[in-house]
Amino acid sequence: MKQLFAIFGNPVSHSKSPLMHNLAFKKLRYPACYTRYLLQDGSRLKETFFALNLKGANITVPHKEEAFKACDVLDHFAQKVGAVNTIVEREGKLYGYNTDAPGFLKTLKSFPQAKTVLLLGAGGTAKATAVILRDAGYEVTLLNRSAGRLKYFEEKGFETYTFENFKPKAYDLVINMTSAGLENNFLPAPDEILEKAVSSSIACIDVIYGKNTPFLQWAQTHNKPTKDGSEMLLYQGVIAFDYFTDHRFKQKEIELHMRQAFLL
Ligand code: NDP
Repeated sequence: MKQLFAIFGNPVSHSKSPLMHNLAFKKLRYPACYTRYLLQDGSRLKETFFALNLKGANITVPHKEEAFKACDVLDHFAQKVGAVNTIVEREGKLYGYNTDAPGFLKTLKSFPQAKTVLLLGAGGTAKATAVILRDAGYEVTLLNRSAGRLKYFEEKGFETYTFENFKPKAYDLVINMTSAGLENNFLPAPDEILEKAVSSSIACIDVIYGKNTPFLQWAQTHNKPTKDGSEMLLYQGVIAFDYFTDHRFKQKEIELHMRQAFLL
């Protein structure tokens, strides 16, 4: 019988994950199918997962913290960052992983000279990414529009700012990790703040994929090289697929097939 996988999110219609995973399942002859599920209420994640008889799932905006709570077993990194984007069912238990952050880290290989980064946003994605980047040796600063979610980062010893108290330094990379621009035309921060933030940057990155976001457009008008979230999506998907299929394929092989989803 085919195994069933899904992505949970709200919104979820934009997600490329079903295409990526289904292509890789087909090419690798793995008997599985991957669908999408619009989940309004994150607290219903676990019961929905079991009601659909899923083998595994990805979780996107805004349910990664609820997904963390829904898991019975967490891997070390997911435990550390409090956000889960990949769940695998094994013998009735839900195992939780975070593949966003290692996926994002891999994309920074194209900027070998970068050492300092400014993350715009303080949600689930920023939480996991800030920790993995710092562990990898980057100097990480957080800037968020409101103070509430910055508490997590302050407790972990990160330098944090809101728009009101921002004291900019030189950042090699400025990265939009907010959802501004995902479904609207908002910039992640006011123009005058962005100008200070990017003044000596090598590049601007948005983790949103599949569109030239307001932030990327803004960066282009300021003559900065840009990169969108497609590579992050690809790499987080490869790592998730590796968990879904219990490490039976080579990651390079999974990547090869998943890459085709970006050419369709
Ligand atoms: P969360 O809902 O957890 O966090 C959202 C963050 O965005 C908060 O810091 C919030 O600030 C901020 N924000 C929302 N709207 C605005 C706005 N109009 N202006 C300024 N700040 C705003 O989201 P996630 O961390 O889960 O996801 C963030 C983004 O990352 C999404 O766009 C998602 O699609 C993308 N993503 C892409 C991936 C990929 O593979 N390419 C993987 C994972 C995520 P506040 O605290 O003030 O509310």
